[in-house]
Amino acid sequence: MAEKTQPSVELTENFAVGNYARFPVAFTHGEGRYLWDEDGRRYLDFFSGLGVSCLGHGHPALLEAITEQAGKLLHTSNLYSHAPGAELARRLCELSFADRVFLCNSGTEAIEAAIKMARRAKPDRHEIVTAFGSFHGRTMGSLAATGQPALREGFGPMPPGFVHVEYGDPAAVAAAVNPGTAAVLVEPILGESGVVLPPPGYLAELRSICDREGLLLLLDEVQTGMGRTGTLFACEGEEVKPDILATAKGLAGGLPVGAVLATEQAAAALLPGSHGSTFGGNPVASAAALAVLDSFNKEGVLKNCQETGEYLAAGLRRLFEGHPDVVEVRGRGLMLGVEFSSPTAPLVAAALELGLLVNAAAGTVLRLLPPLTLTREEADEGLDLLETALKKVS
Ligand SMILES: *Cc1c(COP(=O)(O)O)cnc(C)c1O
Repeated sequence: MAEKTQPSVELTENFAVGNYARFPVAFTHGEGRYLWDEDGRRYLDFFSGLGVSCLGHGHPALLEAITEQAGKLLHTSNLYSHAPGAELARRLCELSFADRVFLCNSGTEAIEAAIKMARRAKPDRHEIVTAFGSFHGRTMGSLAATGQPALREGFGPMPPGFVHVEYGDPAAVAAAVNPGTAAVLVEPILGESGVVLPPPGYLAELRSICDREGLLLLLDEVQTGMGRTGTLFACEGEEVKPDILATAKGLAGGLPVGAVLATEQAAAALLPGSHGSTFGGNPVASAAALAVLDSFNKEGVLKNCQETGEYLAAGLRRLFEGHPDVVEVRGRGLMLGVEFSSPTAPLVAAALELGLLVNAAAGTVLRLLPPLTLTREEADEGLDLLETALKKVS
């Protein structure tokens, strides 16, 4: 970690609202899977800025798409059409179950739009069943949906109409359904709660409950989407088609954008004037998202995510399984977690000290979200650094 204070760290401490527990590091630039800080130190990035920088840093095609579009047109509002946004909507439909796409700027906005779409689509019902331990965002609707009461503390009153049940238990969802239920909203894998995988068949069972009861299935793929688990969307791995899917984080490889993918029937609920966003899907963010999808295609990014993900997971098992403090190594693609029986913050701090960015989720989980372009050599380097970090803290 920084020996001398990095100027931006001090400035941030003095002038930014204190809502983040930031590490005392300020980055200046990145290349591939590496970042450099204001002291010139290099870090291997196994975090991707919360699963966002899916192509790593300074990806040439992404950079070219952004600079080219920025040179042409930055913004027009959604009162008009533009080619990057139109093309992005078409590509997302072609690549998924969806017939229509709404573009916004973030994960929480995608969830808000999905909630509004679901409630309008089921006008005589409003309740949405979600899971304990879920994370759907920080704005009021998505915060009310989030199954973590601690995150709501002091921010009430919350919008009503959200019912929380045990994650991974379809019977609990079925039991919560009543004549006022409009939709079921879940993450295919819990991200913020520490890479928690539901039992196999969970999403398929939720799909059949929704079909039986006439409900909409909403998937929060803000974190699991855009290749993170090795398929473009995690629900493909389960062969489940939702009615509405929210995605964001990796979508534009680092620029702010979010998307709601929907069936024709669900999308029909949002008529002119019913919802909107000034910036949503602006030309530059859309061009970036198109470049990300192009790279996935041309550079075999999803296959790399599957293969390097398996390789890294095997390495993590070798390193951690059998360790007295380790409960489980788990995950899919390059969304991996190691659950400990004790807090992982010291391990994450030790890794940072050694030049490796990893994340502590849910207190006792070590979460890894490397760029989807990670190589085996970089996976090996990260595993070596983790091994050293583990020795330092045990
Ligand atoms: C990050 C995240 C969100 C919120 O996204 P923001 O872009 O931070 O608003 C919502 N749902 C899930 C599953 C997430 O991981």
